[in-house]
Amino acid sequence: SKLPPRVLYWFRTDLRLHDSPALHAALELKPEFFYPIWTWDPQYVFAHKVGVNRCNFLLESIENLSFSLTACNPKAKLHVVRGPPQTVIPALCKAWNITHLVYEKDTAGYAAVRDAEIKAYVLKEGIEVIDILGHTLYDPQAIIELNGGKPTMSISSWSAAAKKLSSPSRPLPPPDKLPSPGDMPLAGFSREDHPVMTGVDLNEAYRVSATTCFDTMAGPDGNFSIPTMEELGFPPATTSIHGGETEALKRLEAYCADKARVVKFAKPKTSPAEFDPPATTQLSPYLKFGCLGSREFLWRVRDTIDQWDKDENGKKNNEITEHPENLEGQLCFREMYYAAEWSQGLRFGQIRGNAICRFIDWRLQNQYDADGLKTHPRPLGHTRDEERLSAWKEGRTGFPWIDAIMRQLRQEGWIHHLARHSVACFLTRGQCYISWERGAETFDELLIDWDPCANAGNWMWLSCSAFFSMYYRVYGVKSFPEKYDKTGKLVRKFCPELVNFPDKFIYTPHLAPVDVQERAGCIIGRDYPFPMLDEKAEKEQCMQRVKAAYALGLYGNDPATFDGSAVTK
Ligand code: FAD
Repeated sequence: SKLPPRVLYWFRTDLRLHDSPALHAALELKPEFFYPIWTWDPQYVFAHKVGVNRCNFLLESIENLSFSLTACNPKAKLHVVRGPPQTVIPALCKAWNITHLVYEKDTAGYAAVRDAEIKAYVLKEGIEVIDILGHTLYDPQAIIELNGGKPTMSISSWSAAAKKLSSPSRPLPPPDKLPSPGDMPLAGFSREDHPVMTGVDLNEAYRVSATTCFDTMAGPDGNFSIPTMEELGFPPATTSIHGGETEALKRLEAYCADKARVVKFAKPKTSPAEFDPPATTQLSPYLKFGCLGSREFLWRVRDTIDQWDKDENGKKNNEITEHPENLEGQLCFREMYYAAEWSQGLRFGQIRGNAICRFIDWRLQNQYDADGLKTHPRPLGHTRDEERLSAWKEGRTGFPWIDAIMRQLRQEGWIHHLARHSVACFLTRGQCYISWERGAETFDELLIDWDPCANAGNWMWLSCSAFFSMYYRVYGVKSFPEKYDKTGKLVRKFCPELVNFPDKFIYTPHLAPVDVQERAGCIIGRDYPFPMLDEKAEKEQCMQRVKAAYALGLYGNDPATFDGSAVTK
C-alpha cells in the first residue's frame, strides 16, 4: 500500500515561510512527516570565497527560519546537514523513507545543474519531486521563450515579454502549523550503501567532503545543529546588516511606512553617498537568500502606492515615478538578469563561451598609430594589473571615492547601486582596464547579496561587455560623487585618515597644499596614498581600447576568442 506522504523539504535560497509556493505545495500533500533541512554544501562554500559577512548573514537567516519552524510545531527545527546535497539528499531520502522531495526551483548557475542531477537520481529511486518557482516573479524560461528564444538584453525587451504573462500573484501567507518531523535515524548509514554520485564537476574540497560526510553530516553533536562562525573557521562579522525573515519583513515595513518615499523612488536620483540610512531599500541581501519573497516586496510597493494615491485623492499622481526608475522597475532589472542568465547557464558568469558577452581583450596594452590598432598583450597576472587589483580591492587606490566604497563593501557587505557603478567602471573600462571577471570575483567574496545573475549581469553592463554600450560615458572620481555630496560624508566615514580635509579637497586630497595636509593631519604619500594612476590619461586609453574591441566585434562564444591566446579565463 502507498505510504502516507513523508516530505523532505529542502530549503535553499528561500529562507522564509511567507510567500513560498513550494512550501505551500508541500503542505498541501498533508504529509505525515515533514523534514525541513538545509544542506551545507561545500561546493557553495569553497567554490565561492564566501566572505565573513555573507556567511554570518546566512547563519542568522537559517537560525531565524529554524525559530519560525519551531513556532509552528514545537518538535520542528531546521536540520542542517553537512555535506554535498548530491550525496546527502539521496541518502536521507532512503534513511527516512521519504516519498516526496520538495524545494523551490532555482533556475540559476550551479544550483540549476546540481538540482537537475539530484532530481534525476531521486526520481529513479521512485521518490516524487516537486520543484516550484518562487524566487523570481516570472519564470525565466517562459520569458526567454516569449522573447523569441533570445536573451533579454534590455529592460524593454524583458518588459515586452513579461507583459504577455499574467501579473505575479499576491504572496501566500506563512503556515501557522506544521506537521511533525519524523524521527531521524542515522544508524546504519555507511558510505558503501550510498555511493557518491559522479558526473558533477568535483573540485578537491568537494571530493574530500563527499567521502567523509557520512561521519560528520549531523554535525559535532549529531543533532543537525546550525554551525557557528567559529566552527566554520570565520572571525566575527563586521556588518550591521543582519539576516532572517523577521528582519526582512521589519525592514520592508519600515521602508514602506514612508509612503511618499516609495511613490517618489527614482533610482538615478538616490544618492550613493548616503549610508545611514542608505537611499535605497537595502533589501537585496534578503531577496538574495529569499528571506523576503519577491511577490511580498512587489505587492507591498504596489499597495503602498495605491494607498498614497487614495490619501491624495489621485490629485498628485503625476508624482508617481514611472517604470523602470521606480521600485517595481528595480525588481524588473533583477528579473531581466535572471532571464538572461537562464539563456546562458553557467557561462553567464564568465567571458569564455558566453554568447552575449562582447570580447574585450583585457590584457591588451594597445598602442595606436596612424594605421589603426597595434596590440601588445601583457601576460596574465601582469604585476601592474595585480597591484592595481589589490589596491582597488583593499581600498587604497589614492582615489577617496573609490577607496571609501571598497572599504564600505568590505565592512558592510553592501554598497549602493551607483557606488557599484563607480568602482566597477573604474576597475574595467574606466581606468584600470582589468577584466570584469576579476571584479565580479571580488564582489562574490565581499557582497552579502551576491547573486549569479545580478552580479555577472551588472558587471557585464558596467564594463560595456553586454546590456550597455556607451563606453565613452565614464564616471569621474570627483565629478560624480560631487553631484550627490560635496562634503564627502562617505569618504569621511570609511577613510577616517581623510576626515579633517576641507570639502574642497575631500575627493582629491593629493591636490591640497602641504600646509592643508598638515592641518588635516594626513600627509598624502605617507598617511594616504597618491592616486595610483592618471585618471584622465587612463580613461582616454581605455576608451580607445574598448572602441577597438567594438570594431573587432568578437563575442565570448566566438572561436577566435577560444584559441588560448585571446581568453582571459
Ligand atoms: P533597491 O534600489 O532598493 O532595489 C530593490 C531590489 O531590486 C534590490 O534589492 C534588488 O534585488 C533588485 N535590483 C535593483 N537593482 C538591480 C540591478 N541593477 N540588478 C539586479 N537587481 C536589482 N544586486 C544583487 O542583488 N546581487 C549582486 O550580486 C549584484 N551585483 C552587482 C554588481 C554590479 C557591478 C552592479 C553595478 C550592481 C550589482 N547589483 C547586484 C545590483 C544592485 O546594485 C543591487 O541589487 C542594489 O544596489 C541593492 O540595493 P537595494 O536593495 O537597496 O536596491
